[in-house]
Order: sequence, then structure tokens, then C-alpha cells
Amino acid sequence: MKFKTLWSACAVVIGLAPLTAAAHDVGVGLQLLGDGKISREPKVGYLFACQTVFNGRGAERIGPWAQNGVWKPDAKPNVKGAVDWPNATITLTVEGAQRVVRSNGLPNHPTGLFPIDKADPAYKFDRNPNAIAEQNVLLRIPAQPIASGRPSCAPMGMIGFALTGAAIFNALDAVGRDAPAYEIQDVCSGHPERGGTYHYHDYSSCMIDASGKAGRHSDLVGYALDGFGIFGPKGDRGQRMKNTDLDACHGHTHEIQWDGQRRPMYHYHFTDEYPYSIGCFNGTPIKAPPPSPVAPANLRPTIAPGPGQPVGGPQGQIGTGNARDQAALAAAAKELGVDVDTLLIAIGPPPPNFAQASRDLGILEARIREVIQRARAGR
Ligand SMILES: [Zn+2]
Ligand SMILES: [Zn+2]
Repeated sequence: MKFKTLWSACAVVIGLAPLTAAAHDVGVGLQLLGDGKISREPKVGYLFACQTVFNGRGAERIGPWAQNGVWKPDAKPNVKGAVDWPNATITLTVEGAQRVVRSNGLPNHPTGLFPIDKADPAYKFDRNPNAIAEQNVLLRIPAQPIASGRPSCAPMGMIGFALTGAAIFNALDAVGRDAPAYEIQDVCSGHPERGGTYHYHDYSSCMIDASGKAGRHSDLVGYALDGFGIFGPKGDRGQRMKNTDLDACHGHTHEIQWDGQRRPMYHYHFTDEYPYSIGCFNGTPIKAPPPSPVAPANLRPTIAPGPGQPVGGPQGQIGTGNARDQAALAAAAKELGVDVDTLLIAIGPPPPNFAQASRDLGILEARIREVIQRARAGR
């Protein structure tokens, strides 16, 4: 009888409001909100974030799926729609010491309809105004990553790339909150940012993880920018991984399948718990340039690749347009005394944000504008 009473009490907590971080763990189907779990050093259950001050814009408000420091993923609405991306493409090759990811950023699964429609119930909470746009993605990450000995922080934006063809972002929204809890994603746990890059902040059930479903260790579902693999949420016996099973960077070392061989190796796991993907980089991450949409033809118009020509720029990880644009950007960067990546990050995705660049670079806005325009005109 006592047992039954206890069970009923649990069922109330699990099922209906009020949600609460009660005594029995957090409760089935409930997760602790990650808000505020941003750290300046590696720490289990936290995100070691490069950015710790936020002034961006996020979802309008959080709904009834989150209360009292916990949230219930299953109770959160999804962005409706089933938009197919038949031209989604991703290729992975090992070229010398590098693993090269080439993609147009579109996922190999259907997505919700973005921008979020006014008639979509999700609109009440999240008015994501961005449309999904094709990107030029070219990432060159270490093929045989090694621990750096000193974990490094996770930047905003992309921290890795999924085998679905889409980007993986860190656990934070633009305001620095728990993104999966606040932002309304589609059924595949993805949505676009302002440059149109479709991305996940946590594990997507649309990632292919056959082993995980079969009660074995999850499959590889993506790569972090330091080259280490990101696997699905299940450990060696098919159990769902928890933060306490992993180190502060959200990974561990044991034998895995790596490029067709079984070998002991460090790797990350997605978990249901914040920070969901990585907590920091165990290896040395490449610097991911900002997303580069294919369509808008302003500062960085991109061209369809010719035969044998890789998508994206020859140097950069995410493409930066055609050769002429790249030469212009390089010339402008040189004249401004900054490197090309720094300039690209400062001006952001198209259209270029000269005001932001001025603040980031400490150079007069008019000067940046003038130098870039002159470089583009080839003068
Ligand atoms: Zn996002
Ligand atoms: Zn593992």
C-alpha cells in the first residue's frame, strides 16, 4: 500500500503540472534547466563557454513545459511542417591529416516550416523569423585528433557538424539560456539561425543511430570541431549516458569504431542532460568561420562550384565566396590590419554588419565600409 502511494505521488510529478525537481532524481521525462550553468573552466554539467556575456535575442517566452528549474522535453511544442531538402549534400573525406567535411548545410531529413508561421502554436513562444538557407560548408578538422592537455572553451554558434549535413551548435541560445528548453525546434530538434544555418543544440532523433536502438553503443552521428567524434546518447550496454558518466568536456575513452577500425579513443556523447553535446573541447578545435549562405549576393556572393571544384573557399572552413570575393576580402583585411577570419566574424553573415564590425575591431565604421567597398571594386 505504501509502495502504491509512493508510486502515485511520483506519477503526479512525472505527468502533470506542477513540474518540480522533486526528491526522486529529477523525475522521468524531466530535465534540469541548464540556465546559468556557464563556466569559465571545464566543469561537469556545465558549458565551458567562450562567451559569458549575452545581449542577443531569443525565444519570446518559455511555456508551461518548464517550471521550477526543470523542463519536460516531451511537453514542448514543435515547429510544424515537413519540408524536404532533396538537394541536401554532405561528403566526408580524409585528406592527409585532415578530415574534410563538405556540405551545403541542408539536412537529409525533413524540417519544420521556417520562419515560424503565425498560425503555428509554437509562434506564441518563439517567433524565429529566419528561413533555412543553403550554406557553403567546408570544414577541415583533424582526422586523428589528440587531447590538447588543456580543454578549451566552446564558442557560440557551431561546435561541430552532424552526419545529417547540418550544424551542431552549443547548448546556449543567443541570450545564454538553455537553448533546447527555450527555443522551439522542429521534430528533428533543429532550427535556423539568422544566416539561415539549420542546426541542432542537442541530440536529434533524426540522426541515424541504429546501434543505439539495438541496445549497443550509439553510432557516430557527427564530429566536433576538434576532430573527435560525437556519438548518440547510448553507452556500451545501450544505456542512456548521463553527465556523471562523462568528463567535463562531455566525453570519455573506450574502444569505438573509427574509420573502419576498432580502437580505444576519446569521443563525445550527446546526452539528455545539459549541456547536451560538448562541455568543452578535449582536443584543439579549428576556428569555425561564420556561416556563409549561398543565396544572398552581397558581400559574399557564392557561386555554384564548377566541375572538380570544392564547395566553399579553398582555405576557409566554411566557404567565403568565389575567388574574386576572397581576394577582395583578403585585401580589405590586410589594409585594415586584421586577419580574414577575424574580419569575416566581425561583419557577420550577409548583409555585412559594419556597425558590429566597428565595435568588434575598434575601427571606424566608415573606414571599414570604405576599405571593403574599394577592395570589392578592385581599386
Ligand atoms: Zn539555435
Ligand atoms: Zn562512448
